[in-house]
Amino acid sequence: MPSGTASAEAIVVIRPDRVDMFEKRHPWVFSGAVQRVDGDPADGDIVTLRDGRGNFLARGYWNRRSQIHVHVLTWQDQPIEADFWVGRLRRALAARAAEEARRAVEGQIAYRLVNAESDGLPGLVVDRYGDWLVLQALTVGIDCRKAEIAAALLEIVPGVRGVYERSDVDVREKEGLPPATGLLAGEPPPSLIAFSENGYTLQADVRAGHKTGFYLDQRPNRAAVAEALRSDPTLHGATVLNCFSYTGGFGVAAIKAGAAARTLNLDSSAEALALAKQNYALNGLPVHNDDFVVGDVFHVLRQYRTAGRTFDCIVLDPPKFAHSQKQVESACRGYKDINLLAFQLLRPGGLLATFSCSGLVSPDLFQKVVFGALVDARREGQIIGRLTAGPDHPVALTFPEGLYLKGLLCRVW
Ligand code: SAH
Repeated sequence: MPSGTASAEAIVVIRPDRVDMFEKRHPWVFSGAVQRVDGDPADGDIVTLRDGRGNFLARGYWNRRSQIHVHVLTWQDQPIEADFWVGRLRRALAARAAEEARRAVEGQIAYRLVNAESDGLPGLVVDRYGDWLVLQALTVGIDCRKAEIAAALLEIVPGVRGVYERSDVDVREKEGLPPATGLLAGEPPPSLIAFSENGYTLQADVRAGHKTGFYLDQRPNRAAVAEALRSDPTLHGATVLNCFSYTGGFGVAAIKAGAAARTLNLDSSAEALALAKQNYALNGLPVHNDDFVVGDVFHVLRQYRTAGRTFDCIVLDPPKFAHSQKQVESACRGYKDINLLAFQLLRPGGLLATFSCSGLVSPDLFQKVVFGALVDARREGQIIGRLTAGPDHPVALTFPEGLYLKGLLCRVW
């Protein structure tokens, strides 16, 4: 693994008025905080951050091409060598002891093994699908070390046969990186990997599916929606409209819990719905073509409203609407629109599970938007659950940006 002893490293001197932030231990150092650089670090190199008097502040990796000039790896004066990376990977694995215990019982399961900044490894995401790991290198600092990281993962994570890369994500552009996919270590993964979740089986296409193949962050929420339906006799036999269904996860969860009688999966991706059908079949559930609708949620919900259709439960799990601060307002308009339509389509006593994965839309703002939609729909609603990602997606207290997924489970009258 590329090393670099402390003495050989370039020194990044931090402006006096920005030194305070190091006490808060936020892992991002923006270009504006840098007073000068002593040395000529290449992008991805380890650098030492010091104040104007030469006091040590932190150590991290450098990228002049990114607004975030330094991603901090440690606030302790320790070398960033092979041992450091292996130590952090081991720590992430240790934090997943509960997942690994589940794997020992259930066999093929899926969970997030490394959650970037929140696991002390900015720029690195690793998801486990059965015997394979899928890695995303989001920064230059991780990209230039990914082969060594993959080799280390293969060695230290029990039962792993291969590490596959899915770094085909837009954020890499901000780092000046092109997309990258392919095998990094071990054996190539099969085209579909089956794994069990909450008592049902799903498959992920780790080569071509969204993100690393599946939305692992919603696992506890698929369980929560299924449980809300199962535990309430007035919702037995429910018809569930699963909007932005992707490969049908919420739908399978609802039916398998013995709660929903019928689910309607709606997504703009025909490929996702084709896999959704396979997922239904894999669980012994009937596959009615009419229950898998390729379409635009904004458009199809309007058609349902015009047709006077109603549902007992609606799930709204849209993709990220706000990618920058500038997009927050239009994102909120989008959230309001679909939530308004959903409120109009729910029968009294029905359930709405509504989500936002836009980190820039705070839980507070999201709740206000949902409230606005409810009022415009002239309905009444109660929050009966607050939803977020599972414990395999930890959020470092020093990195509140890590809390991107929030959801509200509402009873609607
Ligand atoms: N609920 C899913 C994850 C949803 S991800 C799960 O539990 O796995 C968001 C999904 O929305 C993607 O599958 C994407 O194809 C779909 N999508 C994006 N824009 C859409 C639109 N306007 N109408 C319908 N589907 C859309």
